[in-house]
Amino acid sequence: MSLRLCILGSGSSGNCTYVASATTAILVDGGLSAKAIATRLEKIGASLEQVKGVCLSHEHSDHIAGLKTLQSKYAIPLFANEGTIQGLKNSKDLAALAWQKFQTGSAFEIGDLNIEPFSVPHDAMEPVGFVITCGAESIGIVTDLGIPTALVRERLKNCNAIVLESNHDEEMLMNSQRPWQLKQRILGRQGHLSNVRAAAMLAEIAGPHLQRVFLAHLSSECNRQDVAWRATRDALARAGHTHITISMTFPNQVSEIWTAA
Ligand SMILES: [Zn+2]
Ligand SMILES: [Zn+2]
Repeated sequence: MSLRLCILGSGSSGNCTYVASATTAILVDGGLSAKAIATRLEKIGASLEQVKGVCLSHEHSDHIAGLKTLQSKYAIPLFANEGTIQGLKNSKDLAALAWQKFQTGSAFEIGDLNIEPFSVPHDAMEPVGFVITCGAESIGIVTDLGIPTALVRERLKNCNAIVLESNHDEEMLMNSQRPWQLKQRILGRQGHLSNVRAAAMLAEIAGPHLQRVFLAHLSSECNRQDVAWRATRDALARAGHTHITISMTFPNQVSEIWTAA
């Protein structure tokens, strides 16, 4: 069986992504309650008992809500880099968990999944994206990033499926009631990626091997599903990439499931 990918939940209320090979299942981030994760896994025919690890991208609250229970109740190993673990020090419960440390830039294995964490620009201690590979297939996951750096583009460009933040529509953000400082943070180099920037990067790196794109971490106030979808669809079409399916992700329900063709 090929790699399987499903975004169990995405947005500022909680992020959690499921990736599995025939023999190994993992989660990227645990930002939903363990109960919600269990329920959503059941919906796609999986279970927490099969999960061999959670890889944490960074310490922000929308990525960590379920971690304590995932370890204490289900004995699931948690993987993070030193900066992220340091970033959790204010939350004594979480810092005290048994962490498996990975190094940003160095690949590691969980079962037959090869996981490569790489640095992304975002206002956390040591934020990373992941490329997860099994055999000839790979998935790239980057849900919080201010700008698409050369490193991010390089890492994502050979993936068969990409989960990428398409956070906001810049006009909707500027017209929103949010405080000026927050707007500046979101728009900044270490904030969140807009629809137009996500779309432009995807159009630039897409090739024949890219089958599926999931647009993730949509702002509930400053974005709309159809606006984000159209931005990426139009950019891919302009670049001649009409073979790529664009799927959406949701705060309260699972996404479509992608399986490598
Ligand atoms: Zn974040
Ligand atoms: Zn986030």
